[in-house]
Amino acid sequence: MEVLILENKTNSEKDRCLRQKASPVKNFNEEIRQAARNMMDAMRDGKGVGLAGPQVGLLRRIFVTHADGDEPRVFINPSIIWTSQEQVSIEEGCLSLPGVYADVKRPGKIKIQAWNEKGRAFTLEVSGMLARVIQHEYDHLEGILFIDRVNEAKREKLLSKLSKQAAGREKSQKISR
Ligand SMILES: [Zn+2]
Repeated sequence: MEVLILENKTNSEKDRCLRQKASPVKNFNEEIRQAARNMMDAMRDGKGVGLAGPQVGLLRRIFVTHADGDEPRVFINPSIIWTSQEQVSIEEGCLSLPGVYADVKRPGKIKIQAWNEKGRAFTLEVSGMLARVIQHEYDHLEGILFIDRVNEAKREKLLSKLSKQAAGREKSQKISR
């Protein structure tokens, strides 16, 4: 399962996927369970702590998390039903934006309702890293990336770093061919 990397180009198929709102999962069947397993694997391979459907070209409302000190979790059709007034600033990165990081301010505590891959509903009240990862992944379902949550100047900087890296990757691929 390939993780899509933002190209930041018009007419990019990958960007369109990353920028689109995902639609709800309708059936809790073997197909969605397999997707969840594949996403877990891709997350681990990328050494990530979370991964959302749109990042692997699956425009469905599903994401997986494995925050430090927490167990692996699957969230399907999630809704964030409460967020704390208090906001915290934490550095974020993203498997779809490799090599760039930025401090992002978000609520420190949240309550989320979702279904797991077996179709069982659950509610979680969390803070710390898991609350952060969940909010980041939830954004992916809305077509929002963490670079959208920093100021314009910072965003430009991150995007230019990203395109320089992409150019570097292309170059090294050509050389190795
Ligand atoms: Zn991400």
